[in-house]
Amino acid sequence: MRVLIVEDERKVAQFLKKGFQSEAFAVDIAPDGSEGLRLAMSNTYDAIVLDVMLPKMSGLEVLEELRRQRITTPILILTARSDVEDRVKGLNSGADDYLPKPFSFSEVLARVRAIVRRTSADVRGSVLEMGDVRMDLLTRSVARGTKPITLTNKEFELLEYLLRNKGRVLSRVTLTEHIWDMDFDTETNVVDVLVNRLRRKLEDGFATKVILTIRGVGYVMKESADADPS
Ligand code: CA
Repeated sequence: MRVLIVEDERKVAQFLKKGFQSEAFAVDIAPDGSEGLRLAMSNTYDAIVLDVMLPKMSGLEVLEELRRQRITTPILILTARSDVEDRVKGLNSGADDYLPKPFSFSEVLARVRAIVRRTSADVRGSVLEMGDVRMDLLTRSVARGTKPITLTNKEFELLEYLLRNKGRVLSRVTLTEHIWDMDFDTETNVVDVLVNRLRRKLEDGFATKVILTIRGVGYVMKESADADPS
């Protein structure tokens, strides 16, 4: 998953960035409202963490503009003000949730995971499934059939994204955008390396493939016994 943090207090932004990175999220930071708006409009994020009190443009103005532009990325509002008015304004302007400062990272993480889950169409509860592959987002466990599968954080992120988009062909660029931040060098074949590692864990010892390569395009997670065309 890739998140955008719009926060002018450097310490808070770095605290959030470190936390999200330790959960294998890709993280971009915008230090003011207008940069936040620019990044949110030009990149694809799975969630945005948006402070209210920001230089150049307030968080609420950013939020209103994004929703006016029909950008539906789930947004968690952070605010130092505990007053109810801000909260009501934020939720009325299309925020998905609200968290008063100070907060612990585990609260932010839980809220962000919840808003992403709520806005994702293809999730029943906390479980993502395709064929005999089953992923539980709450317990962070994965199994194929009765076999439990242990994944690294990045492999988990990749599988979650593939499952949320099962049946859709995802380009290397799309996968990279969701799994790594904007400083990441997209020229490398690290996506393919990660896909191959995940694939070995999911497919070794099984008769059917679950991740197919679409030559020259990318990858698709599909319930199919078709031979991999690559
Ligand atoms: Ca602030």
